[in-house]
Amino acid sequence: MTDQLTFSDPTTRYRTEGFPEQYQDGPGLEQDLAVQADDGAQTYRGTGRLVGRKALITGGDSGIGRAVAIAFAREGADVVLSYLPEEQPDADSVAEIIRAEGRTVALAPGDVTDEAYSRSLVHTAVSELGGLDTLVVVAGKQQTVEDITELTPEQFDETFKTNVYALYWIVQEAVPVLPPGSSIITTSSIQAYNPSPSLVDYATTKAAINTMSKALAQQLAPKGIRVNVVAPGPVWTPLQTAGGQPQEALPEFGSQTPLARAGQPVEMAPAYVFLASSESSYVSGETLNANGGSPTP
Ligand code: NAD
Ligand code: MG
Repeated sequence: MTDQLTFSDPTTRYRTEGFPEQYQDGPGLEQDLAVQADDGAQTYRGTGRLVGRKALITGGDSGIGRAVAIAFAREGADVVLSYLPEEQPDADSVAEIIRAEGRTVALAPGDVTDEAYSRSLVHTAVSELGGLDTLVVVAGKQQTVEDITELTPEQFDETFKTNVYALYWIVQEAVPVLPPGSSIITTSSIQAYNPSPSLVDYATTKAAINTMSKALAQQLAPKGIRVNVVAPGPVWTPLQTAGGQPQEALPEFGSQTPLARAGQPVEMAPAYVFLASSESSYVSGETLNANGGSPTP
């Protein structure tokens, strides 16, 4: 079987020809993508790196979070997945893949802009998994708006609530239950340092996530909790078809990277596995860029 460890040319490892124009109402479903994404179900092979770990993954139904959930389960972790209620079909299908591995998965639908729900996720993990040692915050909102005069207060608020406030709420609730050795992993973006003109609110939240994570990494180091960031570049996920990009940008999506193609969700998963696993025990406050080779600060 070809898997993530198979030697290959990164320029041609995945689809190079761009994507068809497609629009889904937010948040969009992975199962409705016109071109299917690689979530790792057929291509990610576990090597025992997260045996016995207990992970909460937000945005775990689709895209990057889904690939992380599958990889974590294959590495031996039990997981709680957060996602929006409209995403139940994607959540059900990822749960099936995880159960087939013999791992425990608990599904916890809700809206992370609701503080009480965000905080409750920590307690769901403790009750369903018997504890929590790995917190992976992947959920995010990205809506392209060409002109600042059309960026509504509602969108600005929702983008910050989803991407920044929820992270604050969940981390604050989790820290008291995380044992030494735990790992927190957040999700920034190439947009944090190289913002698109039409992603003013989103790019700003991704810079905030990067900075918040580096502050937290120092604060939580004495407790034995590491905090790291994954910063993806363009990755083929439902978010891109649900207003994250203008539709007409999809045929060229990812082509501007040095590797000249979009990434696939499964290509993000090893970064999260590495940062969750004790093999990265001396790595904290780091941002791991998985972006097709674009330079970063
Ligand atoms: P995705 O649409 O598959 O995942 C985003 C998930 O966020 C959704 O599945 C949904 O479950 C969750 N979410 C959004 N709003 C929510 C809310 N209010 N309450 C609960 N859950 C909510 O897309 P993705 O591209 O895999 O996105 C995952 C993360 O990766 C996001 O943080 C995104 O900013 C980041 N990212 C993506 C790319 C990319 O090119 N795809 C690049 C850089 C960063
Ligand atoms: Mg989704």
